[in-house]
Amino acid sequence: MANSVMPSPMGAPACEKDAKALGFIEEMTQNVDSVQERVLREILTRNSGTEYLSRFRLGGATDRGSFKAKVPVVTYEDLQPEIQRIASGDRSNILCSQPISEFLTSSGTSAGERKLMPTIQEELDRRQLLYSLLMPVMNLYVPGLDKGKGLYFLFIKAETKTPGGLVARPVLTSYYKSEHFKTRPYDPYNVYTSPNEAILCPDSFQSMYTQMLYGLLMREEVLRVGAVFASGLLRAIKFLQLNWEQLAHDIATGSLNPKVTDPAIRECMSKIVSPKPDLAEFIRKECSGENWDRIITRIWPNTKYLDVIVTGAMAQYIPTLEYYSGGLPMACTMYASSECYFGLNLKPMCKPSEVSYTIMPNMGYFEFLPHDPSAPPLSRDSPPRLIDLADVEVGKEYELVITTYPGLCRYRVGDILQVTGFHNAAPQFRFVRRKNVLLSIDSDKTDESELQKAVESASALLREFNTSVVEYTSYADTKTIPGHYVIYWELLAKEPNKAPPNEVLNRCCLAMEECLNTVYRQCRVADNSIGPLEIRVVKNGTFEELMDYAISRGASINQYKAPRCVTYTPMLELLNSRVVSAHFSPSAPHWTPERRR
Ligand code: AMP
Repeated sequence: MANSVMPSPMGAPACEKDAKALGFIEEMTQNVDSVQERVLREILTRNSGTEYLSRFRLGGATDRGSFKAKVPVVTYEDLQPEIQRIASGDRSNILCSQPISEFLTSSGTSAGERKLMPTIQEELDRRQLLYSLLMPVMNLYVPGLDKGKGLYFLFIKAETKTPGGLVARPVLTSYYKSEHFKTRPYDPYNVYTSPNEAILCPDSFQSMYTQMLYGLLMREEVLRVGAVFASGLLRAIKFLQLNWEQLAHDIATGSLNPKVTDPAIRECMSKIVSPKPDLAEFIRKECSGENWDRIITRIWPNTKYLDVIVTGAMAQYIPTLEYYSGGLPMACTMYASSECYFGLNLKPMCKPSEVSYTIMPNMGYFEFLPHDPSAPPLSRDSPPRLIDLADVEVGKEYELVITTYPGLCRYRVGDILQVTGFHNAAPQFRFVRRKNVLLSIDSDKTDESELQKAVESASALLREFNTSVVEYTSYADTKTIPGHYVIYWELLAKEPNKAPPNEVLNRCCLAMEECLNTVYRQCRVADNSIGPLEIRVVKNGTFEELMDYAISRGASINQYKAPRCVTYTPMLELLNSRVVSAHFSPSAPHWTPERRR
């Protein structure tokens, strides 16, 4: 009974279980500093005998002062030798005193391959704990979620084995395949329309088809619609656009598309499928029109909000989601990574531009590197002063540095965060951006040097035409679903009557894709979440015009460099108005789950 439940300073909990979760949030956020001290002590005590920590001669010290004085701040590249040894099968206590249970493959890359994050079994409990806080917070703002279901499009991805025999897979694949998820106890506030069999099906078409079919069959019960990231939800809408006829046919006849062959799915579908001609007719009527405005609320009329991350790179999808949902609230509930789950949004129904995440101090030990883009790079001789979680200042920007139970010590995540306020003693952060990411459509993150290499590699195809790329820039075009990379090229053809033919420029698109990192190619090939790369050749002199424009807006002539990515609309308009030809990748690039190294 709601009114017999202990109240929380955050609001009235929906049930006893929620009251406990909200109590935990209060306790953690009131005691941030002492929890952080305890977490660091625990990590250092456990891992004191590891090869990595032994190097820094902490002499058994577990306090913050000694730790900060002796242990260096590192990046993934610094740890790569240790990580490679673990991947090759070295089971000694290299980074962590507990056995490494698997590798989590981050969407961040190093030398074109996904970063590998060693993890330990008990991290699943920590992740589960953070998940268990999300619905109690949501229930404070959206009552009645126990009266229906959530339509969530959730997927597992390909996994591989490292040479030493450990599984390597994305953190969500690890979670969905865990007993924590598969045998989760029934919670009336958190019931999904998608059966586990569909979520756990490795074939993305069969998985999506089944999840959509269940969502349609239960359309009246659906109270929230979600995916992990905004791009995933848009992919589901595109899927409906492409497959509604077959879905309506299945619903009308009580049959299942023969393309869905997974035995586990077929078995669970057989229990619920029966002919529903009225529902099929309704779907045909809604989907056959040209106008897909508000399609989410038309098909799922009881949806109260969308549950998708639209902060960071995903903000580019907000207008499209608003169009399809008729402006439903978009809840960004949590902030997490393969390295560590960080925290949650305590006001999940706020506007996307106001989202702040509260880092839970029990998840790891967190430090903050003041972010000053004009400062010289870090050096070992002048170590930076890192700030503790409890001491960050409102308004300032920081780079997140973490120390985790599985053994990352003072590791730079690469995320830039800005402090917006406090909940009790816990700071709240706006996600500003990820460092060094130029282009992103889905989980891909392409940086400037990757783009540069791809352009260089593709432009080699132009040599026989005595043509070179004199300038280039790029744009993540998310107006199409799926979105795609657009690269603007200004060419110099030294023999104008020998200019490269279209077919060669198309191949240049593919050559660029072949050169981009494995996450990009996986999105292109396995997930279909990125469309073919496009090269738009612009008229000679366009980049000079771009420079004139930038200078007219205050850029310095001496320091001007062509931007390698353009988002500002007038600049895009200028580029687009000078396009002389557009070219697309004629086929998908090469991708396999196996790592190249
Ligand atoms: P991965 O290591 O592939 O799991 O990606 C983790 C990264 O995704 C984080 O370090 C962030 O850059 C980004 N990310 C995760 N959660 C959010 C969020 N709520 N808002 C913005 N970016 C996020």
